[in-house]
Amino acid sequence: MKIINLEIENEIIKCPKCFSENIDENGVKNVCEHLIFVGTSESDEPELDKEKLISNYDIEKHEAYIDFLKENLNDKYFLFTDSRTRQIDLYLIYKNI
Ligand SMILES: [Zn+2]
Repeated sequence: MKIINLEIENEIIKCPKCFSENIDENGVKNVCEHLIFVGTSESDEPELDKEKLISNYDIEKHEAYIDFLKENLNDKYFLFTDSRTRQIDLYLIYKNI
């Protein structure tokens, strides 16, 4: 999995490919074809997981599901981590962008 950086303007996170407004201050707004996963470091229950990416996640092997994903997803997948909130990381995964 590749890591990407996105600019956040006015609390809005846009898809780097089609510029859909994926996330705003209230959470998930529009889900475009490129956005396939939305989750946080706080919970193992993602808000969006189109491809059931974490279905094989094993807490015995990886402390956090994001470590599992980083290890297992190929370079078609792009991870953006929003760490503006100190306690919680927001993870967005895009595909084929
Ligand atoms: Zn898109």
